[in-house]
Amino acid sequence: MHYLDHSATTAVLPEAAQAAVEAMCTCFGNPSSQHKMGIEAAARLKEARATLAEAVGCAPGELFFTSCGTESTNTALFGAAFKNRHIGKHIITTELEHAATLQACRRLESEGFRVTYLKPDPTGHIAPSEFEAALTDDTILVSTMLVNNEVGSVLDVEAFGKLLKRRCPQAFFHVDAVQGFCRIPLKPYKWNCDLMSISGHKIGAPKGIGALYMKKGCNLRPYLVGGGQESGMRSGTEAMPNIAAFAKACEIRQASMESDYEHVQELNRALRTELADRFPWARINGEADIPHVLNVSFEGCKSEVMLRVLESEEVYVSAGSACSKGKESHVLKALGLDKKRIDSALRISFAPSSTMEDVEALIEALQKGAKMLKR
Ligand code: PLP
Repeated sequence: MHYLDHSATTAVLPEAAQAAVEAMCTCFGNPSSQHKMGIEAAARLKEARATLAEAVGCAPGELFFTSCGTESTNTALFGAAFKNRHIGKHIITTELEHAATLQACRRLESEGFRVTYLKPDPTGHIAPSEFEAALTDDTILVSTMLVNNEVGSVLDVEAFGKLLKRRCPQAFFHVDAVQGFCRIPLKPYKWNCDLMSISGHKIGAPKGIGALYMKKGCNLRPYLVGGGQESGMRSGTEAMPNIAAFAKACEIRQASMESDYEHVQELNRALRTELADRFPWARINGEADIPHVLNVSFEGCKSEVMLRVLESEEVYVSAGSACSKGKESHVLKALGLDKKRIDSALRISFAPSSTMEDVEALIEALQKGAKMLKR
């Protein structure tokens, strides 16, 4: 089996699974309980929070566990927009965003907010000057991704944060770092970032765990209320198995982030060389700044059919983001690509566990597919 769809999700690391089992079967107390089992669970929760906070680059008190990246982003966007509602109604985001951000913005529009969706250039980037031009006196919130999940472009969040705080010091800045976490260093303080979303299942933790960095002093209104867990920011008994696994996966990925990056870079280079050699007519979409994602169109070969051919060879990639479920990619459309190119796009995404054999199997399967399909 050759799985090259790690931007959609990735396998749980065995050590992370083990940490989850321990939190389910041995140290299974409720961190709010007052007895020894609860105190032990609370200590593990504290430890996990410290591990995640260090990786994010914030203080432990600024990191809140959630159920996923989507929940983190919803908490950030609704909380920030409603907190700043008395100052203004203008929000800025980009056409490149994940559905979690885009749908939250659509909901906010229906609540009377005005949203500017910045258009990327054909490489998948947005110039700081374009961002600056969109700022208005009543901009109260900006939400941009760090790494795009479909084409791998990295947005200049440092420049955006600086420009935003200079012109609209009271506005909140949210960064969706789901695809950047444990791949490139996160620097929320340097980036003037108030809020940042991350997710566990992209780094080797199970699905159903995420976290939100919220800068000290932001004090957003919580999305979930109840027992007051997570310092009142996210009620609900903490998902200790997932939290323990998240911390373990994070620890492992952080420790080898640089060498993992180099390994993935090597695979990406090999893939590009093979593509250029054997499919000179294939076209790379966007400009990836990280080696984990490569989006390429094989014009004349419909993605959905090519995916089936690859699957028959036990090679798994995707046509775009998993959430789009086969619908036309809004990201490739935003880059200005034509329908033929969008309909024949494949997203190949690597993890540290990917191997050169995976690349070779992919190339072979692509050759088989192209022979069958190319007209
Ligand atoms: N943001 C980006 C850039 C993503 O790629 C994803 C998941 O694909 C999300 C947010 C949502 O994360 P989750 O699946 O944990 O809700």
